[in-house]
Amino acid sequence: MSAAKDVLIVGAGLSGCLLAVYLARRGHRVRVYERRGDPRVAGYVGGRSINLALSARGLWGMAGVGLDRVVMERDAIAMPGRMLHDREGRTSFQPYSSRAGEAINSVSRGGLNLTLLEAAAAERGVEFLFNHWCLDVDLAGPAAWFNAPDQKNVRVEADVILGADGAFSPVRGRLQKVDRFDYSQTYLRHGYKELVIPALAGGAFAMERSALHIWPRGGTMMIALPNRDGSFTCTLFWPFEGAHSFAALPSGPGVRAFFEREYPDAAGLMPTLEEDYERNPVGSLVTVRCWPWQHEGKVAVLGDAAHAIVPFYGQGMNCAFEDVRVLAGLLDEHRGDFGAALPAFQEARKANADAIAEMALENFVEMRDLSGRAEWQYGKRIEQLLHRTVGDAVTPRYNLVSFSTVPYASAQRRGREMERVVAAVAERVPVPAVYDGAWERAVLEAARPLLGGITPVGGGA
Ligand SMILES: Cc1cc2nc3c(=O)[nH]c(=O)nc-3n(C[C@H](O)[C@H](O)[C@H](O)COP(=O)(O)OP(=O)(O)OC[C@H]3O[C@@H](n4cnc5c(N)ncnc54)[C@H](O)[C@@H]3O)c2cc1C
Repeated sequence: MSAAKDVLIVGAGLSGCLLAVYLARRGHRVRVYERRGDPRVAGYVGGRSINLALSARGLWGMAGVGLDRVVMERDAIAMPGRMLHDREGRTSFQPYSSRAGEAINSVSRGGLNLTLLEAAAAERGVEFLFNHWCLDVDLAGPAAWFNAPDQKNVRVEADVILGADGAFSPVRGRLQKVDRFDYSQTYLRHGYKELVIPALAGGAFAMERSALHIWPRGGTMMIALPNRDGSFTCTLFWPFEGAHSFAALPSGPGVRAFFEREYPDAAGLMPTLEEDYERNPVGSLVTVRCWPWQHEGKVAVLGDAAHAIVPFYGQGMNCAFEDVRVLAGLLDEHRGDFGAALPAFQEARKANADAIAEMALENFVEMRDLSGRAEWQYGKRIEQLLHRTVGDAVTPRYNLVSFSTVPYASAQRRGREMERVVAAVAERVPVPAVYDGAWERAVLEAARPLLGGITPVGGGA
């Protein structure tokens, strides 16, 4: 093992704090610089979603330092399926998996960040410096410039600088100035706004708690995730402009009438709808792709700083946590040598980050539009039946992404193959009057000759 290094992490968000734990346990000195105040003192100031869907990859990322169980016990609510709400207020539940126990989990962003921060702060050799705004990075040093709480600029030197500083990363901003650095950022025409369905008297949930709720409306949607206090955080995903957009519905009395028409069962559960709609900002949704992720084994980016993605697969944080554990594993493999581990890290992760970025964009269409359609729901039934009866060889894409650590790129490839099989079976076996044994036999018979074309997926992340 090469000597302990002096590592500077920019960003005490989700991945920065987890990374600090991993590096400290490998004997490195770790300083984490964060532009915001200390959430242990000032409370958590997020600016992003209030809660998040945590699934297998995020749990795997935290399990390497034993934090998965802590987070699950402290904060999680299992969501084993989606609850679809139609325009008449009728609901239908679709399990995510045919396997008992496979669920994604709603966790609070503030609670999770605090758990990770406290875990990092408890490690020997970790120091947090809050209210330090990273301004620039000197790649040659390496060193970073920060605006400190006294408004003076300070230069901080280190052996290695790791940018866990989010979608608008200043560390990546410096890398962008290096010759032949590829960079693209693409915004969706849709933005998001958060609203709330409060708990009922006594803290009861106003809707089914064990589900991710979706109101698919074609080009737009609303979703809701449960919180441990009995409330739900709802998120509108609407276009900024045009029909059914944020611009088309300014605050005011029209808001409730619109919700009563579009989301009738939710509107009645939202007593502060008008105030929330007026007060809460509209956030934008960006996909960032860049390359390379590291410079000369001394400066690197990870998490959203390397690959910000849209939230429709619930994978941004999960992917970031997977990054952290993969990087730690490569450091072990290369005996603590960042000069070897950082290039290996970007090679291992780039194709997978690109794959989940693409799948997340595709899943927006699935959630807001297809999930409300009868033919899509029929396809899901076929997919789940095949998975239940044929087994792992035909695990659906959603399950590979959310309930396994099979590389995202393999999950994407498998997903395309499965899509073709399901479409062919749906064409041959019409929707039955009842889903009985005869229907199951017909589906299996139609699928059998097609399954040979499914490629086995590779191992874990
Ligand atoms: C609406 C929405 C819903 C989402 N839902 C999900 C979900 O369900 N599941 C999921 O897995 N992911 C989800 N995500 C994605 C997830 O939020 C991100 O992928 C995740 O936060 C990335 O973690 P990170 O540590 O890379 O960046 P961040 O969590 O953004 O942390 C970056 C940190 O760097 C700090 N920082 C930034 N600039 C500076 C600077 N100049 N100087 C010092 N510090 C700085 C920030 O203050 C912050 O603390 C969602 C995102 C959005 C927008």
